[in-house]
This record gives sequence, structure tokens and C-alpha cells, in this order.
Amino acid sequence: MKVLKFGGTSVGSASRMKDVAKLICDGDQKIVVLSAMSGTTNSLVEISDYFYKSNSAGALERINVLQQKYIALVEELYTTEISKKEAYEIVKSHFDFLRSFSKSVFTLFEEKAILAEGELLSTTLFQLYLKEIGENSTLLPALDYMRIDKNAEPDTAFIAENLAKQIANQPDKILYVTQGYICRNFYGEIDNLQRGGSDYTASLVGAAIHAEEIQIWTDIDGMHNNDPRFVEGTKPVPMLNFDEAAELAYFGAKILHPTCILPAKLNNIPVRLLNTMEPQAFGTLISNQSKKEKIEAVAAKDGITAIKIKSGRMLLAHGFLRKVFEIFESYQTAIDMITTSEVGVSVSIDNTKNLDEIVNELKKFGTVSVDKDMVIICVVGDMPSENIGFQARVVNAMVEIPIRMISYGGSNFNISFLIKAEDKKRALNALSKSLFN
Ligand code: ASP
Ligand code: MG
Repeated sequence: MKVLKFGGTSVGSASRMKDVAKLICDGDQKIVVLSAMSGTTNSLVEISDYFYKSNSAGALERINVLQQKYIALVEELYTTEISKKEAYEIVKSHFDFLRSFSKSVFTLFEEKAILAEGELLSTTLFQLYLKEIGENSTLLPALDYMRIDKNAEPDTAFIAENLAKQIANQPDKILYVTQGYICRNFYGEIDNLQRGGSDYTASLVGAAIHAEEIQIWTDIDGMHNNDPRFVEGTKPVPMLNFDEAAELAYFGAKILHPTCILPAKLNNIPVRLLNTMEPQAFGTLISNQSKKEKIEAVAAKDGITAIKIKSGRMLLAHGFLRKVFEIFESYQTAIDMITTSEVGVSVSIDNTKNLDEIVNELKKFGTVSVDKDMVIICVVGDMPSENIGFQARVVNAMVEIPIRMISYGGSNFNISFLIKAEDKKRALNALSKSLFN
């Protein structure tokens, strides 16, 4: 069985939902994972924010606006009066539920229940549409099988067991529709897999059922070899291995959530990135195979801060890096890039919430300087160190760009540069020109 995931824009309107239905109704049994309709989760975040601030009027106003969108959807999506009536009831019950929070205390617990409404709405309405057009489909409620543990990691044994049970209860269905993103936590409360987490759901579901393939359907024909917003003439990369895809997903290719890769990789399930607007296009196939010794793509990650710690004490000393890393750990701040020399170390972070505290503590170990507004440029491909020339080509392409940090050797699949944000477009174009033309 395959798992197909459709993102917010793919189910963002009645006509897009109808396109998805056409795509999935080919007689093959499959699991279909849906995100919330585009814009909905953002609205739910905003509504929660009003509730947090005890501004019920503000929340209710946003709820009304959002409900209007769904009413318009119902009018357009269904043809029969029976379906329309049922759909209106579904919409009403979900929006009444949202309104009910104006009377309660508002905490993270309530917020998570609100955030789950987007996927609950999109899947229920979509399932009703499939019923109307006579498809043999059913809903698999994610809240009954998707669970995270105490450390917010997926409880894979629970997921596999309960998903299998749900499918076994209705074995003759062709389409199983389920919610991306939402889950229950260790305490049984409604929770989620973080923003953009529907890709993760698809991958976890694929792993749980040992799917033949996981397909992520979006609006672009696969991962491109450079960022189409800054570089003209980018092309889809036909094949990537799991490691290359993980680097690209993490360092900027927005099309796939980075968490999606690991469950697929661990279970060796190919992930295919496809385009709902152009279903025949090959897209990108992510698997354990890839082209050997080839540079595949370039991506950029914005909003990076570089921190340099220079210290005479590092010279010939041990334990220095541990002390530095412990500071980042104690502020739960992940490090992206790191470069070292005998007298100093530079790291890059993207979460600057605790930057001041971190810098303050680092000052105990050396002279600290901070550069904000930086970008990581990441070149991805199979670049084994035995094969001379790759690194030189990449560095040569950057000849006119001031570089703050360079990193290679963490894996053979990535060479990263840290540069100023203002040089990003120039760097992406220079790399495209010399690596892909
Ligand atoms: N609806 C959720 C979000 O907007 C999850 C997803 O779309 O992947 O973040
Ligand atoms: Mg997404």
C-alpha cells in the first residue's frame, strides 16, 4: 500500500480538493494524509493568541471570518442537498467547539485542541466529498493511533499496532483518509507534531504499515537544484539518497519537512515528491540510491546567527568544546554549523531566543563576537573526500563572496558556507552557474 500526503494548498479550495480526489481514485488501496486547508492553522494560532490574551471578542471575530471560508467551501464542493446539509452540520459543530473556549481558562492544553481543528475539518469534509462521489473510503482518526512519548518522540510501536487495528477493522476500504500533524501525547491529550508536521505523519504512517512508497504531493515538481525564488532556470533533482534529502530539507528546501526523512530511511521506504498541478512530472525520488559522485543541489537557510569564541585557553587544552556545547545545551539551542581552529571556535544557531544569556555565559571562556543576519548556503551531493576536485569546484564558485565559515567532512553529502544575508542571491547564482550549467 502507498501513503499519499497532500499539503494545505493542495486541499486549499473546493476545486483543489476535487483535483486531489481525481488523483487518488485509481482503484488502488491507499492511505491519504491531509493537512489543514492552507491558512487555517495560521488562523487557529491567531485565534489561540486572542484567547491567551483573554480577548474573546478578538478570537470570536477571527473564528467568524474563518467559518465563512468553510461555508463557501461547502457551497462549492458538494452537489447534493444531503451532503451540503451534513457538511454544514460538520462545520457548525467544529466552529461551535472553537467558540466554546471563550468560556474557559486558556492554556497550552486548550491551544493544542484548537490547533487540531484544521486537520479534523479538512479530512472530515474531504471524506464526505468522497462519499458523495461514491468512493469506497473511510476516515482513520489520527487521534486514535498517532502518539508521542514523554520526550515528544513518536511511539512507533503504539502507532503500528493501533493503525493496523483500525485498518483491520475495515479491510475492504479502498481509500483511508487520515489527519496529518495531529496526535496524542504521553498523557493522552491532544497534541501535534509541530508546524509542518503532516509530512512527518505521512512518513510515520508509511513506516508503520511498511508502505511500498510515501508520496508527498505539493505545488512544485520535486526538490529543485537551487532556490527558484532567487535563481532562474532551476531544475528538479530526479534522485536523492536519504542523507542528501535530509541535508536539503533541513537547509532550506521548504518542500519537505526534515523530520519526514528518518522514519522512511530507517524502514527503507522510498519517498517521492510530486506535483498536484502536474501529476505526470517525475518529481524527486528519495531512496537509498542516488547518483554517485555528483553535486545535486544548493539550498539556503536564512536567519542564522554566528557566534565566535576566541580563547588562549583552548590552545592544547581538552574539555573546552564540551564546556562551550554545554552552554548551548542548557539553553536548548541547537547548533547548525561549527568550525574550529586552535584558538577559537565558531558556531551558528537559528534560535536566538536565549542569545544574550548564551553570550553572557560564553564570555567566561573567551572573547565572544556575534554576527547576525547570516545565511547558510549548503551544497548537497555525493562528494567523497577521495574524489579530488569537488570541494575545489564549490569553493571556486564562491570566489567573489565573503565567507564567514566553511564546513565539510561532517558527511560526504554536504559542504556549507556561512555568509551575510546580503550576499545570498549572488552566492546561489554563482553556485548554479558553475555547478549546474
Ligand atoms: N497544518 C499544519 C501546519 O500548517 C501541519 C502541516 O500543514 O503540515 O503547520
Ligand atoms: Mg508542508
